[in-house]
Amino acid sequence: MDKKLHIVGGGLAGSEAAWQAANMGVEVILHEMRPEVETFAHQTGSFGEMVCSNSFRSDDHEQNAVGLLHWEMRAANGLIMQMAAKHRLPAGGALAVDRDPFAESVTQALLDHPNINVEYGEVTELPSEGHWIIATGPLTSAKLGAAIQAETGSERLAFFDAIAPIVYADTINMDVAWMQSRYDKGETEEEQKAYLNCPMTKDQYDAFIAALMAAEKTEFHDGETATYFDGCLPIEVMAERGHDTLRFGPMKPVGLTNPHDPENKPYAVVQLRRDNALGTLFNIVGFQTKMKYGAQTEVFKMIPALEDASFARLGGIHRNTFLNSPTLLDDQMRLKSRLGTGGSIRFAGQVTGVEGYVESAAMGLLAGRLAAAEILGQDLPTAPQDSAMGALIHHITGGAEAKTFQPMNVNFGLFRPVEGLKGGRRGRKDRYKAYTDRAKQVFQEWLDTQDSGQV
Ligand SMILES: Cc1cc2nc3c(=O)[nH]c(=O)nc-3n(C[C@H](O)[C@H](O)[C@H](O)COP(=O)(O)OP(=O)(O)OC[C@H]3O[C@@H](n4cnc5c(N)ncnc54)[C@H](O)[C@@H]3O)c2cc1C
Repeated sequence: MDKKLHIVGGGLAGSEAAWQAANMGVEVILHEMRPEVETFAHQTGSFGEMVCSNSFRSDDHEQNAVGLLHWEMRAANGLIMQMAAKHRLPAGGALAVDRDPFAESVTQALLDHPNINVEYGEVTELPSEGHWIIATGPLTSAKLGAAIQAETGSERLAFFDAIAPIVYADTINMDVAWMQSRYDKGETEEEQKAYLNCPMTKDQYDAFIAALMAAEKTEFHDGETATYFDGCLPIEVMAERGHDTLRFGPMKPVGLTNPHDPENKPYAVVQLRRDNALGTLFNIVGFQTKMKYGAQTEVFKMIPALEDASFARLGGIHRNTFLNSPTLLDDQMRLKSRLGTGGSIRFAGQVTGVEGYVESAAMGLLAGRLAAAEILGQDLPTAPQDSAMGALIHHITGGAEAKTFQPMNVNFGLFRPVEGLKGGRRGRKDRYKAYTDRAKQVFQEWLDTQDSGQV
């Protein structure tokens, strides 16, 4: 059996995966199609290129889940964090970098590594043997995308995301909202109460539609134009088709009775559905949108019961190739359909259904370590669930609802509760500190087992 590790894609995830595996003593071949084959977003042939903003977001590792991921990646000797520190720009609490020298340093570090060889050129097929990590990102080339789709089935590899906003459950006002499925459908009580409903009067609906129409929208990037298919029209496009279109679509008020006001039928209802097994996150059903982020929070807070809502992520529609990871990958990030073949195909980065530079690099770090351990005959468990890396991998390979799976960024809604702490806004600071303390401890223990050779 070939002991080499092939990594396809030298973006944020592939670069980090290569670095980690090579540092564990595994011979890595890094395949990158740029500059020979280009994407619409990348501008250079460098590894680790940041295609849009130059920020790795918050660096606060005590009160912010992204900052916690930074901490974990630093603890694991991550390349992306090392080079970010070297090229850091002043940006308040955020970790922003000088993007070109940053990517050049990532490239140089990989080229200089004695265990890494680079092969330029597009990979067009899913390999049939050996150990591989596919980290080809949201702009995976069309040929490889088709090959992945042939393996997974067409409905399990998406080429666009259609993200509805996700709200922290404990910030929804349940004195206004109630749990009920339309017409109480379902066999069990849990199914009959699967949806969270927010009622609107006519005046509230009219004001909401007006705000939606007036809100600032984002345009598609060049080369990213999508024809909307009817299943995932942005709400503002639906609203443009007619004042009542939403009231006959995702906001229809039928089959529901408001227990807080049973005599009055709501004029429209916004429904939210559970987004994770923990029940800490709810997505607003059918509310995918191209509104700008600032506008989204303003408009969505007009929905009764969401006035004080905090959003774990806002909505969007982008060109984005991603797998239905909850059904396709095991917690070792391996393609289940290729288990037992002697080799392995792992996926890492944005293509696994995480969202963001930091999350992508973190998934690269994890995949690199897991793949190298497998090649070295070590039994390395995936990152612990109470760490940020573990919360993410647990979500995408199991905790998320597979049927409605959409890309996810790291947030505290993915973390298991810490017993004995206050819920709601008031307890937030203490809760987040408890999450990050616990995460650091379990993540460090996971690293220590590897350093001490216990795996
Ligand atoms: C237009 C756009 C803007 C974004 N803006 C942001 C942002 O501002 N902030 C943020 O946090 N996230 C952003 N993202 C999301 C995401 O975080 C980035 O795309 C991130 O780069 C993903 O990392 P990755 O390693 O998974 O993929 P990438 O960094 O895209 O790396 C994938 C690599 O694989 C290569 N590749 C693709 N197909 C093949 C093939 N068949 N053979 C060989 N090589 C191949 C590509 O050339 C690329 O180098 C954006 C995404 C897009 C598409």
